[in-house]
Amino acid sequence: MNPEVLLSRIRIVLCRPSHPGNIGAAARAMKTMGLTDLHLVAPKCFPDQEADTRATGAVDLLRRAKINDTLPEALAGTVLAVALSARRRDLGPPPGSPREMASQLLAEAINGDVALVFGNESVGLSNEEIQHCHSAVTIPTNPGFSSLNLGAAVQVLCYELRLAAYADAPQPEGSLVTAFSSPLATHDEVEGLYAHLESNMTESGFLNPAQPGRLMPKLRRLFGRARLERDEINILRGILAATRNGTGHGRKP
Ligand code: SAH
Repeated sequence: MNPEVLLSRIRIVLCRPSHPGNIGAAARAMKTMGLTDLHLVAPKCFPDQEADTRATGAVDLLRRAKINDTLPEALAGTVLAVALSARRRDLGPPPGSPREMASQLLAEAINGDVALVFGNESVGLSNEEIQHCHSAVTIPTNPGFSSLNLGAAVQVLCYELRLAAYADAPQPEGSLVTAFSSPLATHDEVEGLYAHLESNMTESGFLNPAQPGRLMPKLRRLFGRARLERDEINILRGILAATRNGTGHGRKP
């Protein structure tokens, strides 16, 4: 597949950015490497003159940037979301390197839109935000000083994506789709499964909403690793509907 098309399917998502200058720097980093799709989740100040100034020739990306209230909204329609984190997280998905992840993202972009998710400048990504992602990337750094500027972190990943896209553009044969498989579920379809699971578990008493513990984060981690397909979501939701209260409603004949 054409590298330009693949790069256009990679969404850069900035969660709760505090400094408009960093949004501009991220847009510039993206455009220099051929990426175009910028999403902002609850930016503190945007649009802003400082963002335009730092974007220089990439103001067009800022004008087209999509603004969302929450991360799930920004991930709607994507088939893979990768978190950028300077720190190892207990609850998060297993981390990979930018180079490994660039190849994987491009291979997945054959199947649909994919997202790279960056955190706020001072607090990074929240645990909740991390749990919306299938995998994580940590840029290798000086262990004593590991936090890059947000725009710089976006630049490193976009650079790796461009190198990988033009070095060995993945062929459609490399796609995950086989005769047996169905398309990968989108983020919103997987969220529908989690909501269904949570409601069944609450209703059955397995999950106590007053003391939820780490049940949902653990299930998110499990299904995030599995990379569910659309048919698989339908099967799981069918089972959940059929076994609800043990009534057998929804059971197939
Ligand atoms: N103090 C924050 C860092 C915020 S830097 C923390 O400890 O998490 C802003 C964002 O840039 C981070 O949320 C992450 O998305 C990205 N980033 C910065 N340094 C990084 C690194 N070494 N590896 C991966 N992402 C990094």
